[in-house]
Amino acid sequence: MGALTAASWIKKRIEETGAKCRLEPFLTGFAPNVICRYESIIPTNDTVIISGHYDSRGSFGSARAPGGDDDGSGTTGILSIARTIARKRIKFHANVELCTFAGEEQGLLGSRAYAKSLRAQNASVVLMIQADMTAYRAPGEPLQLGLPERIGTPEVTDLVGNVSGLYSPELHVGYSAACCSDHQSFIEQGFPASQVFERAGPIADPMYHNSGDLSEREGYDVNQLYAIAKVQFASVLHVAGFEIEEDE
Ligand SMILES: [Zn+2]
Repeated sequence: MGALTAASWIKKRIEETGAKCRLEPFLTGFAPNVICRYESIIPTNDTVIISGHYDSRGSFGSARAPGGDDDGSGTTGILSIARTIARKRIKFHANVELCTFAGEEQGLLGSRAYAKSLRAQNASVVLMIQADMTAYRAPGEPLQLGLPERIGTPEVTDLVGNVSGLYSPELHVGYSAACCSDHQSFIEQGFPASQVFERAGPIADPMYHNSGDLSEREGYDVNQLYAIAKVQFASVLHVAGFEIEEDE
C-alpha cells in the first residue's frame, strides 16, 4: 500500500518540526488522514487548520497516479510550511493544525470524516484553508492564485486575497469555478473555510487526473507553488497570532 507509506512519511517529516501527529483512519480500505498539531502557547480552544490531500488518481485504467500537482503541490506546501515553523522557531497563539487528507478523490471522504468529528467535539475552528493544485501554470500566463467563486466562506476568501497582495504580490489573484475540495467538508459543518488554487479560471492542467501528473514537466512551476504556500502560511500567522521563541 503506497498510500500508507506516504502517510507515515508525511507524519514523520512534520513530527520532526515539533508538531504532534497522528494517523487517523476513517474508513476500512482507505489510507488514514494525517493530522498534525502545534499546541497554542496561550490557553485557547481556537484552532486554525491548513491542509492538502495526499491521495491522487491517474488515468482511467492505470494504476499509476503520481499526483504531482493534484495534490502533491498542496502537500509539498504543507511540508514546507512545517519546516518554516521549525526553522523560524514560531510559537502560535492559537492551536494550528496541518492536515493532509486521504480519500479526497473518492468524494472528500477523509476530510468529511474529520470535519464531522470536529463538529461533534464542538471544536472552535476559526479558519480552514485547503491547498489543492497550486503548481501548474499554462504557457504564457502569469503566476496566479485562484480563489473559489462559489464554495468558500466569503470572509475567508477575502482575507486570503488581501494577504496575497501583501505577501505574494507576484501572484495575479482572480476567481475560479474549479470546484470541490476538502474545504467543502468544513463549510458543510459550518466552519469558515476557503481554498487556494493555481489559476483564475477553469482547470488548465492537461495532466489533470492523468498518470502523467509529474512534478518534472513543462508548466509545473515551483515558484507559483511557493508563492501560494506563502499566502496560506501568512493567513495562518495573521489569524492565529504568533511569536518567535527566544534563545535560552
Ligand atoms: Zn485535488
